[in-house]
Order: sequence, then C-alpha cells, then structure tokens
Amino acid sequence: MKKEGFLWDILYPGRCAVCDRVLKRGEYGVCTHCTPLPQKIEGDICMKCGRPVPGEGVICSRCEKGENTFCEGRSSFLYDRYMRRSISFFKYKGRQEYASYYASVLDEMFREKVEAWGAEALVPVPVHAERLRKRGYNQAALIAGELGRKNGLPVYDLLLRNRKTIPQKELSDKERLKNLCNAFSVNKEVWELSKRIKCVIIIDDIYTTGSTIEACSRTIKTLGIQKIYFLCVCTSQ
Ligand SMILES: [Zn+2]
Ligand SMILES: [Zn+2]
Repeated sequence: MKKEGFLWDILYPGRCAVCDRVLKRGEYGVCTHCTPLPQKIEGDICMKCGRPVPGEGVICSRCEKGENTFCEGRSSFLYDRYMRRSISFFKYKGRQEYASYYASVLDEMFREKVEAWGAEALVPVPVHAERLRKRGYNQAALIAGELGRKNGLPVYDLLLRNRKTIPQKELSDKERLKNLCNAFSVNKEVWELSKRIKCVIIIDDIYTTGSTIEACSRTIKTLGIQKIYFLCVCTSQ
C-alpha cells in the first residue's frame, strides 16, 4: 500500500523521525523545525568507510590496517544525539515509518555512488530470529526495502544470523570480529535464486566499529562475490 495521500495522512499521520512529533500536512519525514538538526556527513571523510576524518582523500586508521574486505561504504548522518534518539525510537519503539525518511536521505546523498558501484542488490544485515520475533521487524531490512523502492534494486536476504552472540561491548575489536563472523551464514535458498550476482550493497542502521559490516562482507565473500559495498544511516566519528 502506498503510504501517502490525504486519507492516509488523517488516519495515520507520520511522525517526525527526529523529535517524534506528529507531522503536519506538507511535512514528510522530519518536521520543519528538525530538518536542519541531524548532522549530515559532509566534508572530509575516509575514502573507504565514509567515516568523518580530517584531511582530503585520506583513509582512516581502521581502514589503513587493511583488514576490511568491503570495497567502500558511506553513511548519511553522524550518530549524534538527534540520530541516537531517532534510531532508538526506530528500533525499540516501533517507529518503522522512519525507514522511509532514512532511505530518502540515503538515496538523495548516494544515488550517483550506487550507480557507479554497479550494485545488483541490497543485502540487509540480519537480526537473530529470536530478536525478530520480539521486535517484529528487522530494522535494516526496512531501510533496504524503502531504499530499493526508490532506486529499483532488489533486496536479497542473503545472510542469516545464526545464534545469539556474546555482547559485543565486552570484547576487543579483534574478538568482536571473530565473534561476529561466526554469527552470520549464507542463506543458500536466496543465493540459489539470486542468479549469481557479483556486486551487492550491505544495508544497516549504524556503522560504529565496522565489525558488523566487515563480518557480513566476509560471509558474502565466501559466495565468490567480490564487489561488496555498504550504506548505513549513521556513522560514529
Ligand atoms: Zn521534529
Ligand atoms: Zn575508514
């Protein structure tokens, strides 16, 4: 169902993806007041992972280590206090509608990038089945779905989350990655149907240490897919 139009607005008025107030007529995604608030990533960034770093055309210290197997990735917003709140409402308070706003900003900022990458599909980072049951939705899949509707790319659930992992906070970077690599596996049924695609974009809500994206990338690589990119809504500094 197309979620717009007069009647839809009256029955289900959208909420601002930043302050959560009900949107007025004519406002989409965020309210007029909040439009300038969340900080979009502009200016100097790491050419590989898209994280803001000082200096033009540089690679951040994490990417410099050369352990990342993805080609390149970008995020729309800094994970600042506005986006922290927004993402937490999106994930834990059922504000699934925010996905449409996130996707529209991703599409606006990175449409040319996506075309240059030559991606054939969007692959959402999966959540564990138990979490999916509790929450009722996978936030990354919602973003991927909305983005795919805008840029015409299909969404393939190429990855599965195997089991609950040790809470990442308690682990070092290296341990995180190892812990996470074990957590993902390939969804063989989807892969069979995907006609041997060669270039994908992983979709997630937040890019922090990068280990989740990297673990997904390594899992996808086992399929022989060499060109792996990512798009996230937010990134930490
Ligand atoms: Zn607002
Ligand atoms: Zn980087």
